Amino acid sequence: MTMKDDCLFCSIANGDAEKLVWQNDIAAAFKDIHPQAAVHILVVPKQHILNLDHLDDPELAGQLLLAVREVAHAVGLKGGWRVRVNNGRSAGQVVDHLHFHVLGGQELKHDAH
Ligand code: AMP
Ligand code: ZN
Repeated sequence: MTMKDDCLFCSIANGDAEKLVWQNDIAAAFKDIHPQAAVHILVVPKQHILNLDHLDDPELAGQLLLAVREVAHAVGLKGGWRVRVNNGRSAGQVVDHLHFHVLGGQELKHDAH
């Protein structure tokens, strides 16, 4: 498992457990600092992966997807909830460490794009 020294989400995911709302061996979840919905959690791998274009291990990919669902249920999202991944600058990726936005806790409108 490889972390990147100057990566914000590497340090959050492998850092202070009190900042996390959920974690297991491979993934961690924490609240987005600028929530775009009543509930807005970020789920990230503990190892440094840039985005989905760099996720090559099928076992890890499956584990991450199941982690996303587990986090959603753990924070009380059961009915309707959304997962979003921005891959690359032109898709709105700002933080260069793979993260799944988990959104819910309210009626969600269709995304414009
Ligand atoms: P993206 O645009 O997909 O790269 O999303 C990056 C997300 O990370 C944004 O929704 C930010 O609000 C969120 N974010 C940035 N810094 C932090 C931080 N220190 N703790 C929690 N969320 C953060
Ligand atoms: Zn990282």
